[in-house]
Amino acid sequence: MSAMENGLVQTAARESAPPNLEAPPEELVRRYDVPGPRYTSYPTAPVWREPFEPVELEKKLEEAGRSPDEPLSMYVHIPFCKTLCTYCGCNVVISRDRKVADKYLRRLDRELELVTARLGERRKLSQIHWGGGTPTFLDQRQTARLWEAITSRFKVLPDAEVAIEINPPTTTCEQLSQLRGLGFNRISMGVQDFSPEVQRTINRYQGVDQTRELLEHARGLGFSGINCDLVYGLPRQTPEGWQRTLELVLQMRPDRFAVYAFAFLPQQIKHQRKLPVDAMPKGPAKLGLLLAAYQAMVKAGYQAIGMDHFALPDDELALAQSKRVLGRNFQGYTVKTAADVVAFGASAIADVRGCFAQNAKVLADFDKALDEGRLATVKGMVLSADDCRRRVVINSIMCNFWVDLGQDGASYFARELERLRSFESDGLVRLSGTELTVTPLGRYFLRNVAMVFDAHLADAKNVTFSRTV
Ligand code: SF4
Repeated sequence: MSAMENGLVQTAARESAPPNLEAPPEELVRRYDVPGPRYTSYPTAPVWREPFEPVELEKKLEEAGRSPDEPLSMYVHIPFCKTLCTYCGCNVVISRDRKVADKYLRRLDRELELVTARLGERRKLSQIHWGGGTPTFLDQRQTARLWEAITSRFKVLPDAEVAIEINPPTTTCEQLSQLRGLGFNRISMGVQDFSPEVQRTINRYQGVDQTRELLEHARGLGFSGINCDLVYGLPRQTPEGWQRTLELVLQMRPDRFAVYAFAFLPQQIKHQRKLPVDAMPKGPAKLGLLLAAYQAMVKAGYQAIGMDHFALPDDELALAQSKRVLGRNFQGYTVKTAADVVAFGASAIADVRGCFAQNAKVLADFDKALDEGRLATVKGMVLSADDCRRRVVINSIMCNFWVDLGQDGASYFARELERLRSFESDGLVRLSGTELTVTPLGRYFLRNVAMVFDAHLADAKNVTFSRTV
C-alpha cells in the first residue's frame, strides 16, 4: 500500500536538521527511558498470533503473484555460527561442522519450491539479503549451491541490492571474492567493540588488522554501502575503550555504521544470563557512549540516519534520507525494499500483502515442516487498514524523523496529537498542521515518539522490551 493510499502525503525534499551533539537533559532521560519496541515492524512481533497457519501466507503469496511485474525483496536466514557470542540476540545454531549446513540447504531448496509455486510468474528481485547467524559459515560449494537455488527460480534485477552479513573472524578474502563474483554488492560486518576486555566478556574475539584487511579487500572488489555494526551498552565498556574503538573503525572509513544499543533480555535469552550485569553501563553512562559515537561520526563527516545508523553523505542511504524517501524493513534501512518480502529459513519473516509470517525458530521444527512438504510458518498477523496506516506513520518517523499525517490526520490521530503536546513542550517534536517533525533533541527519544502511534502497546503489556534510551 503506498503512502498516498494511506492518506499520507510525501512532500518535497528538505535538508534534514543537523544532529544534536549535546547530551539530552538528565531529567528528560529519566522520564522517557522506558521499555519500548524498536519498531523493526509495526505491529511488533510480540502481538502477532501464534499459532498462525501457513495457509494465511499461501493466500497472500498467491495474491502477490497476481502482480508479476512488481519486484520482490528476499531474505534468507543462515542460522549457523562457529561459537556463541554471549551477548547475541539472534536465532543461532552453534556448530563447528559445516556439513550441518548441507541438510539445511536441502530444506531451503524445498521452501523455495513451495513459495515459488504460489508466486506464479512473479520472480523479479530488487533486494536480496542473507543474514544470520553467519551466512559465511557456508563454504564456497554451499554458497554456490544456495545462490544457484535462488537464481534458477528468480531473476535478480540488474540494479538489485544484494547484501550479506559477515563475521570477520570466520570469513576469508577468498569467500568475499566468490560472493562478489556471484553478484553480491553490499556487505555488513560485525565489529561491536575492539577492547580486549569487552571481547573476552562477550566471548567474541576479533582483531583490528583482520577486520581492516577484510574491509579493504571488500572495497577493492567493488562492494559498496560497506557497513560496520557497533554495539554500546556491553559489559566492561568504558568511555576510553569505546573512544579507541571509534577511532579505529573510523580510520577504516566504511560507508555506513549501525550503532546499536545492547538489548539485554536475560528472561528471553538464556545465554545472556552469563553476562556480568554490574559491569554494564547504564542510564547516563550508556547514553554517554551513544553520544560519543554520535559526535565522533558527525565530526568524521557521517550523516545520522534514522534511529541508530550513520552514512557518508554520498551513500545512497544519506541521499534517500535527505529526500525523505528512506525505507526500512527487517534487514535494516534500505532504498531498495519492495512492497513484498519473501523469506526463507528458520525464524525468517515474510511480509507479503499486509501479512507478517514467521517461520519456526527451532531448527528441528523448521526441518520437520519442510520434510512434511509444508511451509514452516508458525507465527504472524494479517494487518487491518488501521495497522497499515499506523505502520506508514511509524516507519516514516523512524526513517525520516518526519511524517505528514495526511488530509484527515488531525481528526484520525486527534488523540495522538494531543499526547504529543507534552513532547512538543519538552522540545522533542514540532507540530505544524498535520506535519510532525522530530527535533534533533527528539532523535534520542525516537522510539518514544513512535510509541504514541502504536495501537497495540496495551496488548504487549506482558512483554519485556529493551529500554528506549
Ligand atoms: S556471530 Fe553474530 S549471530 Fe553469531 S553468535 Fe555472534 S553475534 Fe550471534
